Amino acid sequence: MKHLEEYVISIPDFPEPGIIFRDVTGILQDPDGLQLAVNQLQDFLKDTEFDVVVGPESRGFIFGVPVAYNLKKSFVPVRKKGKLPRKTISESYALEYGSAEIEIHEDAIKPGQKVVIIDDLMATGGTTEAIIRLISRLGGEVVKACFVMELAGLNGREKLKGCPVDSAIIYE
Ligand code: 5GP
Repeated sequence: MKHLEEYVISIPDFPEPGIIFRDVTGILQDPDGLQLAVNQLQDFLKDTEFDVVVGPESRGFIFGVPVAYNLKKSFVPVRKKGKLPRKTISESYALEYGSAEIEIHEDAIKPGQKVVIIDDLMATGGTTEAIIRLISRLGGEVVKACFVMELAGLNGREKLKGCPVDSAIIYE
């Protein structure tokens, strides 16, 4: 079996010149790649007690749901503004390229619940930091953030102020 990083397809100059986009569809379209990624994320959580997986639109859904399902936890989506149908709270944040506003249903996290964030990739950490703000406004506690990939040179971990982070593939 190949290593997980061998399934990632790196696309230079996407979506803008100078950006190397790390494409996870190469992982997903191979059964071994998908197994490796989901199993690795689950492995990161084997000593963590938690109640809920939170995953941001859209690749956080792809990796968050199988982990939540396998570990018998609930899954809560964080979506771009205007997509969730019920009462939400929102946070704005800067992306690696551009900016965005994300929302969560206000009844999705109960006070005191322990939350794990799962996404495909951490770049600047801005998305994860905004999710941590959403969860803490609802009274939840983020106990860990897990990623398939991390762009370590962008220092996302520093933004997360002590939140433990695990990433399957780290690009320096
Ligand atoms: P951050 O907020 O940490 O700067 O950016 C992370 C978010 O942008 C994640 O939700 C991730 O899906 C997306 N993202 C940024 N760069 C890449 C990339 O090179 N590949 C993939 N797959 N997602 C990226």
